[in-house]
Amino acid sequence: MPEEIRHIPCGAKTRAGTPCKRTDISTNGRCKYHGGHSTGALTSEGKARQLEGYRRWQREKAENLQK
Ligand SMILES: [Zn+2]
Repeated sequence: MPEEIRHIPCGAKTRAGTPCKRTDISTNGRCKYHGGHSTGALTSEGKARQLEGYRRWQREKAENLQK
């Protein structure tokens, strides 16, 4: 792990709505619980699939808010 990113908090929003305070983050700036070990989708096919899941998550979130 590069020295300069140590002690920087993850900062991802937790389920409680507070920023994640974990400092054991990966090189992409997130802790292991918030995708720190993930490289994200690498192929355009994978990115499309990822976007589809994100859109579904947005839709479900919007539906939950209406209840
Ligand atoms: Zn985190």
